[in-house]
Amino acid sequence: MRWISHIAIAASICAVFNPLAVPAAVAGSTAPDWFEFIMRAVRRDKRVKHRAATHYLAAWLLLALGALFIWDWRGLLYWFAIGGAVHWVCDALTVTGAPIGWWSDRRITLFGGKVHTGSSGEYMIAGAVVLVCVLLIWTKSTSAGGFIPFFYDWGGFFDRGLIDGIEWRNNRFNII
Ligand SMILES: [Zn+2]
Repeated sequence: MRWISHIAIAASICAVFNPLAVPAAVAGSTAPDWFEFIMRAVRRDKRVKHRAATHYLAAWLLLALGALFIWDWRGLLYWFAIGGAVHWVCDALTVTGAPIGWWSDRRITLFGGKVHTGSSGEYMIAGAVVLVCVLLIWTKSTSAGGFIPFFYDWGGFFDRGLIDGIEWRNNRFNII
C-alpha cells in the first residue's frame, strides 16, 4: 500500500485508543518501508529484498508485546510497533502479500490479496477504516467522562459552566 494509506489507517486506529501516541503510530506505520531504505543505504547493495526482514509480522508483534513489559513512555514504543503491525496487515491485503516471520519466505495474503497498490480499492479500505475510527472517537468523546483532545465537546463545556456563552458561540463549529 501507499504510505498515505498506511499513515491514515494506523493514525486513526491509534487515535481511538491513545491520541497522544499518534505520531509514534505514524512513524511505525511507515517503518517497515523506511527501515528498508536505511538497510539499502547501509549495505550499499541491492540485495535487500522488498517486504522481507522489515516486514515480519512476528517481529512487530514481539516488539509490541515487549513494549508492554518495559517502561514505555506514553506507550510510544507500543504504538510504534502496532503501527508496524498495521503496515503488515495493509500489505497482506495486497496482491504481493507480506511474510509472517523469519522462518519462512512465503508471503501471506489476507482476504485473497485482492488489493492493488495505489488502486481505488486501497483508498476505499483506508477511507472506511478512518470513517469507523472517527465514529468511535466521536461516540467516546460525547460519552460521559471521556475527554479526548479531538472533537471538543463545546456544548458540554457550556452546560458545565466551564466556558461562557461567547466562547461557546465562537467555538461551537470547531470540532478539532
Ligand atoms: Zn510495505
